[in-house]
Amino acid sequence: MTVKEIFETMDYGPAPESAAEALAWLAEHSDGFGHFIDGRFTKPGAGFDSRNPANGNVLATLTQATQADVDSAVAAARAAQGKWAQLGGPGRARHLYALARLLQKHARLFAVLETLDNGKPIRESRDIDVPLAQRHFYYHAGMAQLMEKTQAGREALGVCGQIIPWNFPLLMLSWKIAPALAMGNTVVLKPAEYTSLTALLFADICRQAGLPKGVVNIVTGDGDVGRMIVDADVDKIAFTGSTEVGRAIRETTAGSGKSLTLELGGKSPYIVFEDADLDSAVEGLVDAIWFNGGQVCCAGSRLLVQEGVAEDFYRRLRRRMDGLRVGDPLDKCIDIGAIVDPVQRDSIARMVDGNTEGETYRSAATLPAKGCYYPPTLITGLSPASTLMQDEIFGPVLVGTTFRTPSEAVELANNTRYGLAASVWSENINVALDMAPKLVAGVVWINGTNMLDAAAGFGGMRESGFGREGGWEGLTAYTKPIGKPKPLTKIEAFTGDKGPEDGIDRTAKLYIGGKQARPDGGYSRGVYSKSGTLLGQAPIANRKDIRNAVEAAQAAKGWPAATAHLRAQVLYYLGENLSARAEEFTNRLNQMTGTRTGAKEVDAAVDRLFTYAAWADKLDGDVRSVPLRGVALAMREPVGVIGALCPDEAPLLGLVSIMAPAIAMGNRVVLAASDPFPLAATDFYQVLETSDVPAGVVNILTGNHAELAPTLATHADVNAVWSFSSTDVAATVERGAAGNLKRTWVNNRQSRDWMGEKGEGQTFLDAATEIKTVWVPYGA
Ligand code: NAD
Ligand code: MN
Repeated sequence: MTVKEIFETMDYGPAPESAAEALAWLAEHSDGFGHFIDGRFTKPGAGFDSRNPANGNVLATLTQATQADVDSAVAAARAAQGKWAQLGGPGRARHLYALARLLQKHARLFAVLETLDNGKPIRESRDIDVPLAQRHFYYHAGMAQLMEKTQAGREALGVCGQIIPWNFPLLMLSWKIAPALAMGNTVVLKPAEYTSLTALLFADICRQAGLPKGVVNIVTGDGDVGRMIVDADVDKIAFTGSTEVGRAIRETTAGSGKSLTLELGGKSPYIVFEDADLDSAVEGLVDAIWFNGGQVCCAGSRLLVQEGVAEDFYRRLRRRMDGLRVGDPLDKCIDIGAIVDPVQRDSIARMVDGNTEGETYRSAATLPAKGCYYPPTLITGLSPASTLMQDEIFGPVLVGTTFRTPSEAVELANNTRYGLAASVWSENINVALDMAPKLVAGVVWINGTNMLDAAAGFGGMRESGFGREGGWEGLTAYTKPIGKPKPLTKIEAFTGDKGPEDGIDRTAKLYIGGKQARPDGGYSRGVYSKSGTLLGQAPIANRKDIRNAVEAAQAAKGWPAATAHLRAQVLYYLGENLSARAEEFTNRLNQMTGTRTGAKEVDAAVDRLFTYAAWADKLDGDVRSVPLRGVALAMREPVGVIGALCPDEAPLLGLVSIMAPAIAMGNRVVLAASDPFPLAATDFYQVLETSDVPAGVVNILTGNHAELAPTLATHADVNAVWSFSSTDVAATVERGAAGNLKRTWVNNRQSRDWMGEKGEGQTFLDAATEIKTVWVPYGA
């Protein structure tokens, strides 16, 4: 035999990892698992089996939580929270370190158990899931240690309900629990019904670590239990799972005052330019779509390859697919393990079998005769609109198409309702870095894929959800400003029957796309002073006016592309021009509100414009310390078009306090002015007109907040809605936002001190931006 022949005939022998220790741990619980509530395991109750998808064997029986179980878990978390928060950052850090160490000590047991339960290759659970889980606890132990310094003015939210999926059971648990605990929250977590075992082992670890009882509570069960947690008396829901369920949670929590973060699905593009290192790109693709059998929210499941190299690339890819080894997940030489459950495998098969377009290639790899497996599959030649190009398959199935130019690549890449991740492959740094900001995705990997770390924010845009996990931005989702705001009462307009003092009828207009516009409905209402004198007529905007304003805002694409320096100049100019008309605005405010605070309000508004002008080019992104030779850039991007219901009580300052940070960061706004006192806003458009604000960047409407809110909230081209109205529209806004999963910020009937607020408003700047993490590994 020649060496060549030996190489060609050599096969991998089986190299199974021993499951003995994990099976022994399971055997200790052969009478079933209960929940982990208030530091103890409850007695097992009626429930369901948890299986190993590689062979169908029952691993354990789990308890389906009842309403009483969920109630007692929430009560335990509530009872524990105050003391846990008072323990202080350094005190909590000790506990998080202890958890991290125990995760490390029992790493092998966790990895094997995860692989048994989920079917993912032991190589992945051992080298990726478990180390990353440890990393999250270490990283957040540090965040707890530093909290008093770095999160000054912020405190824990309280009790967090956390619901996670089955694809990265322990890792998702860590992403949820570590930051929550670090910031002083307590949690009730529900693992997915297919994969609850590592969460229960983690509960055991919490007990061993001496974590105070009630800080971590784990209840098991299916979606019904998830729903109970969503409805429970918790302060926040953190959910990872399907977009469908995420949307339902957005709807049911609307108006409840609960914080919400959603990490949902994706259909992430994997873009290969003709100047890419094609073999590396093929290897990367193996990682992108066949990691965890493609059951990955950020999987590079949509291949876009430049036309000139497409055939060559597909050929190399098919050859590589044939070499993939599918089989026993405990075998250390296996590339692709089992699909989590027959239900999921059938769903993958149904989607693929339902497709009649393009060309389907299945890997020549042999599948085990028994167990839940699906072959690596490539489908090419699909049209951009075809179902498989648009819908998440969540399995080892890659769909591909070609593009000609970089701009066509951007267009195809962004032609999705999702926006979780994207990979760009090119040896040309200009091409790669030019793509990154143009892709609608929370994470962009340059010449790489699936790079994840606790120090780098992870999360989506569009229907991939909102909120980030990891990094500094991940902490915002588990904290709130310290202090108890006063309740906000509805502010009514004054009524009257006296004509204008000077007999002149003044009818204001709407301000849309840089022009004064008559309201579509043709109606206005009289605005009266406290003593009943007519001050002017304010137009009543309707849904058509909102649509026009949104269209104008969407069209103002030059604004986010403009330099921060230019945006700063415009804001300074606005401040200057407002200042020049201070007296006029002061009188207007005093007349409208019947107070004498007008001068102070104008002064504060001018100051706010200057402050956000200053911030425009100073709210930096940063470079994260990830364990990689390379950089992970945390770039701040504008949210897009923000619709806002402005505060009623501060007719000028409120509007300016919302507009200024939003446009400073490159957003465009549709503002519904103070409902009872709209005339300062209509005067303000004259300031806009003289200050070089490009058409469409700021649009101002007047009218009834209750009537405007639903249209703003449900409009598909509005990316975020904020409400500071004294009309209670929180539920309307949050429920309406579920459609395209827009970002929302509502006051929940709580007042803000607009005057006292020192325009630095980090909260506003954060709400006006989203972090995009761009991973740039160094070459060679
Ligand atoms: P799923 O949404 O059905 O289930 C996720 C979790 O929610 C499970 O624990 C489930 O029991 C629970 N649940 C189900 N219905 C519920 C309801 N009405 N109310 C509350 N909880 C409910 O999703 P899945 O099929 O388990 O997981 C796959 C999906 O998760 C994919 O779409 C994938 O993209 C997504 N995912 C996203 C991320 C991310 O970080 N963005 C990570 C992993 C998975
Ligand atoms: Mn299982």
